[in-house]
Amino acid sequence: MKQESQKMNAGPSCRFCSTTLTTQMVNLGMSPLCESFLTAGQLNHMEPFYPLNVHICSNCFLAQLEEYVKPEEIFTEYAYFSSYSESWLQHSKDYTSSMVERFKLDARHQVIELASNDGYLLQYFVEKKIPVLGIEPAKNVAHVAIEKGIPTITEFFGEQLACELADQGRQADLLLGNNVLAQVPNINDFVKGMKIILKPKGVITMEFPHLMRLIEGNQFDTIYHEHFSYFSFLTVEKIFAEHEITLFDVEQLATHGGSLRVYGRHLEDTSKPMTERAVALKQQEIDAGYDQLATYSHFSEKVKETKQKLLRILIDVKRQGQRIAGYGAPGKGNTLLNYCGIGTDFLDYIVDRNPYKHGRFTPGTHIEIFPPDKIEQDRPDFVLVLPWNLKDEILRQLHFVRSWGGQFILPIPEPEIVA
Ligand SMILES: [Zn+2]
Repeated sequence: MKQESQKMNAGPSCRFCSTTLTTQMVNLGMSPLCESFLTAGQLNHMEPFYPLNVHICSNCFLAQLEEYVKPEEIFTEYAYFSSYSESWLQHSKDYTSSMVERFKLDARHQVIELASNDGYLLQYFVEKKIPVLGIEPAKNVAHVAIEKGIPTITEFFGEQLACELADQGRQADLLLGNNVLAQVPNINDFVKGMKIILKPKGVITMEFPHLMRLIEGNQFDTIYHEHFSYFSFLTVEKIFAEHEITLFDVEQLATHGGSLRVYGRHLEDTSKPMTERAVALKQQEIDAGYDQLATYSHFSEKVKETKQKLLRILIDVKRQGQRIAGYGAPGKGNTLLNYCGIGTDFLDYIVDRNPYKHGRFTPGTHIEIFPPDKIEQDRPDFVLVLPWNLKDEILRQLHFVRSWGGQFILPIPEPEIVA
């Protein structure tokens, strides 16, 4: 009893190394879950808000949110369907070709994807006749995958499921997970499971937003409750090493504002030596101070400044009597809207390509979401681009906005107007 109360007084502890967390990286206040879009009938109901307070561990430098909400509450019915982004599909197709070529994958091999969503990626391996297995806890998206003919298990991944699969002789030659590592509250259990499910000469690839890019690029909107952890290469290497997985290679990608794709293998598998670019990136992070607390705690001021700049632009535009619509309702958009306090006083509506969101409202800010063609009918003066990481694709798709003199507002990295 006494021990328990002492533990509670000590405050939250690091989900990887258990060190007590005493340093704040950034506090974005209270926010609703960013994927809980509301129906019209829910607008008058009470809505849960949770803290978005990012801690940085002084021992391993894992940036993290406390587990305010259980993954079961977030990921069992999920609004995010990967197949609605063209550039993400292309990214996945390119990834597939590159893995098949580099690791000589064919019909004798097994690919397993953790958090396989609606099968958007595994479909490209299926096209190449390579056996696949998806693991996806969100039943509604997993169902879409299964209908497409992608074998999918609808469970959360960890040591227990890994043991069950390994007992059935189902292990991976290629084990991949894109944007899932950040979403795992019990990271040690998850990585331990990966060790179990990987064949002796198998390869792991994981993609996740790079913490260095998040901080340098001021991407505070990629912080939301679904993302429990934010990784540098230095920290992720420590986490895998703890579970006897060696990260032998890393690529820096442009996706999600700047991601890392790390390549892992068993510690015992010496057939894959550490690449020069992996060594170089570690050095680059050390040179930039990612092994020091001060680098992280400075971030907070920059975030406040961005909020002020964006609001100044929006207020100026509204004072001139002009109309603003939002483009895209990604999860990150909701962090931005809630933290900055942008509701229907600034945005008349938002459009999004995902039919799941049409007729629904953004959590917290209650802005209605329509199909994209509303922009063409309504001709707003400004379009605020919320998925700014896809701005090239979106500005191309929306080139017609310029025909009536419409302009774009980009919120991140620096709030700006693009004519
Ligand atoms: Zn730690």
